[in-house]
Amino acid sequence: MSSLPTPASPIHPAEGDWHRRSTETLLAELHAAPAGLAPDEAGRRLLADGPNRLEHGARVRPWRILLAQFQGVIVWILIGASALSGVLGDAVDACTLLAVVVLNAGIGFHQEYKAGRSIEALEVASEPQATVVREGTSRAIPAAEVVAGDILVLEAGDLVAADGRLLEASGLRCIESALTGESEAVRKGLSLLDRDEVSLGDRENMVFKGTSIGAGAGRALVVATGMRTELGRIAGLIDQAAGDGSTPLQRRIESLGRLLVWVALGVVGLLFLLGLLRGNPPLELFLTAVSLAVAAVPEGLPAIVTVALSLGVVRMARRRALIRRLAAVETQGSTSVICTDKTGTLTVGEMTVRSLRVGGVSYQVTGEGYGPAGEVHPEGKAAERNLPPDVLELAEILVGCNRAEISRKDGVWAVLGDPTEGALRVAGTKAGADRDRLDRESPAMLEFPFDSDRKRASVLRRGPAGRLRLQVNGAPGILLGHCDRFLAPEGVRPLTEADRTAILAAVGVMAARGLRVLASATREMEEPVPDEPSADLLERDLVFVGLTGLHDPPRPEARAALAQCRSAGIRVVMITGDHPATAVAIAREIGLLEGTAVAITGAGLDRLSEDQLRDQLPGIAVYARVTASHKLRIVRAWKAAGAVVAMTGDGVNDAPAIAGADIGIAMGRTGTEVTRQAADMVLTDDNFATIIAAVEEGRGIYGNIRHALQYLLAGSAGEILLMAVCVVVGMPAPLLPIHLLWINLVTDGLPALCLATDTIDPAVMKSGPCPRLERLAYRGFLKTVALTGSITAAVSFGVYAWYLRSGSVETARSAAFAVLVFSELFRAFGARSESRLLWQIVPRLNLPLVAVVVVSAGIQVLSQNNAFLGRLLKTAPFPFLDSVALLALGTVPLLFLEVLKAIRVRHARASSPV
Ligand code: ADP
Ligand code: MG
Repeated sequence: MSSLPTPASPIHPAEGDWHRRSTETLLAELHAAPAGLAPDEAGRRLLADGPNRLEHGARVRPWRILLAQFQGVIVWILIGASALSGVLGDAVDACTLLAVVVLNAGIGFHQEYKAGRSIEALEVASEPQATVVREGTSRAIPAAEVVAGDILVLEAGDLVAADGRLLEASGLRCIESALTGESEAVRKGLSLLDRDEVSLGDRENMVFKGTSIGAGAGRALVVATGMRTELGRIAGLIDQAAGDGSTPLQRRIESLGRLLVWVALGVVGLLFLLGLLRGNPPLELFLTAVSLAVAAVPEGLPAIVTVALSLGVVRMARRRALIRRLAAVETQGSTSVICTDKTGTLTVGEMTVRSLRVGGVSYQVTGEGYGPAGEVHPEGKAAERNLPPDVLELAEILVGCNRAEISRKDGVWAVLGDPTEGALRVAGTKAGADRDRLDRESPAMLEFPFDSDRKRASVLRRGPAGRLRLQVNGAPGILLGHCDRFLAPEGVRPLTEADRTAILAAVGVMAARGLRVLASATREMEEPVPDEPSADLLERDLVFVGLTGLHDPPRPEARAALAQCRSAGIRVVMITGDHPATAVAIAREIGLLEGTAVAITGAGLDRLSEDQLRDQLPGIAVYARVTASHKLRIVRAWKAAGAVVAMTGDGVNDAPAIAGADIGIAMGRTGTEVTRQAADMVLTDDNFATIIAAVEEGRGIYGNIRHALQYLLAGSAGEILLMAVCVVVGMPAPLLPIHLLWINLVTDGLPALCLATDTIDPAVMKSGPCPRLERLAYRGFLKTVALTGSITAAVSFGVYAWYLRSGSVETARSAAFAVLVFSELFRAFGARSESRLLWQIVPRLNLPLVAVVVVSAGIQVLSQNNAFLGRLLKTAPFPFLDSVALLALGTVPLLFLEVLKAIRVRHARASSPV
């Protein structure tokens, strides 16, 4: 490795005019070389220049979160009430109110801080990657670690990590809309632009951070990183925040909260007036009204939703699904259609070439994985010492038109790059080709990497004596259309119709075995290379060389995951660029194509009108030979049919479909950076089963949030009802302010938090997708809230009235208070599921909930016998037996609701057709 001189200070050459200076000058100025920096030098520069990131101020700041806890009206009402109590000489009340405020702020702070941190961790985890050359070898690193002087390796689908001056470019086109607003891809080249006033969009020898590579390949010398890039310069102008980042569910709950504030204030105001008319003391009445308002408004709810959602993020990450937008957690649960890739998602994605076909002869390739062991021999015959020259020609194309690298890591052979190309490279080497020698003797001049719309890749090499040689790999049907000659064992001859038919038949046979089939072709050319060498100009008049069949077995877990989808009411649709026969073979194997379902090709799809597509949509299980625009059409059609669509993608051109889907899913291992940044979720293992795991988590979280919401609302309804009834019939207020606050913040608030963070109910995958968000609070939900509120209020009222007849108001209050607390605590266990009965849920332990209930109930019982606690919570002493009786009465609402649940479940089962 060449050791480079070390610059004395951080490097910032005369900024802005890199396009005007020669690459030699720039390399010298930046103390860089085409072979890249040494890792320790790169590390030093990273320290000096800082990470290659745009700065934005929205980090989690503890003091800001703390401050936010004191922004609500309620908090200030409470503080005011506490001050008032203090002035009036009720020190205990003043202190308890204050303590409640502090406790509430503390819990809120803790929750939000934790949620913020996990979302921040998420941002870091989904940061983009970049490929750079360091010490002569290319390696993938986090884009934040790119430094000035690095050599960026660029290809279609990459995000440009930093500003750079191009050193190599073949067919390179950049999408610079992020910077210039221009949506057309701009062509890039190497020519020096030594003129004044070259606008950003015209600096064709430069690439810029934040833009993406639309086509082609190249290398660039990094000249600026982070805030020193062109993007960094205008970063202040770009709205980094892009809204406040809250999810639809969060917004909905916030607006529901606001509505409840008004409803509660209305009811409380009315009760206040009524109390005044009845001649109750105004001050006591005022305090009660305030506490009731506090009790009625579920101010903890937004925090609880955030906590549940961010917990979902953590849980999904544990199951290898990285969530990039919080909203995806909740949408996930409503997913009703999954459009998935085949290669690498439903299949293992580890390819092995099994067979070759050259000059009408089939060859078998032995060996497993990406290791070099294995050989090539004619099918059904023993290995021969020398393979015919046409096989060697195919082998050279396989290794020559190839961007993948094979290396041995921790004892296993692995691919850096496209697994398909890795397999081609391995097979070509087994058949005797030598990539290093090829690169020495005829180095690559131009490269057109694989693109799933063009379905082919090519490379132009310059051999000895100025001979040009084009090597092409691609989908057989398409490549054949560009061939006019055929490499037969005896030499090159024109391609006849009979040849075409024979080749396509051979493709069909290979594909029906589930093999992924590629064709290879070549072309010899004379210098000079055309001025504007485009792939389309070069890839014609080709000589057809042969076919390669790759084996990519289905993932063992795919079948089970598909069965799970079926019982969970989720449709799965396979979308692949592969040959229809290959797609159908794999789809059959994993049980995706069954019964009356059909497969269709992209061309077939084009022939369908919108109306026809709408009619046939439900019956189509497999789409083969499609391009990116087909994906978008399929997403739109399903969405128009009312589905919530998840769509996977990996190629450059998949970004629109991913962005258009309700849940865009990108591949973490093989996908392109552009799709990753457009996606809502990234699968770190590219596995289909991971999507299902994420859906399960999404449904569970959705359920948990609903349970918490229902529980809290029902609790508030119960308190208001109880108070209202007493005021209306002219009884003294059954609950004191401190009682209401205690119930609201402790015995309701904490169980609700436990409900929101509950473990996932395994039953979620046995019913259909969650209803869309709009129907979170549908009529049945509100009915349950009202009913639950009524039954708890009724029980407490009964107890209150009973004790009031036989004893003092203090005792009656304590009894009503205790029963209400016990009812709320016990009810939390039943609230964990809307369809499963208590004894079915209990085995799925929620330890925090148990702890909260035991401790809270314990405090309640203790307060009836302990003078100090009694004074704080304003409860009167009770005989032990009464305490037990109250505890028992507290189970009444729970049992009542469980019976109702059982009836409802039985009714639903009877009316459902299954
Ligand atoms: P999918 O990812 O859905 O399997 P692709 O769009 O990747 O589909 O591939 C479509 C077809 O393009 C394949 O069947 C194969 O013939 C060809 N192909 C795939 N990868 C490459 C590649 N790296 N180079 C050349 N041809 C390829
Ligand atoms: Mg692919």
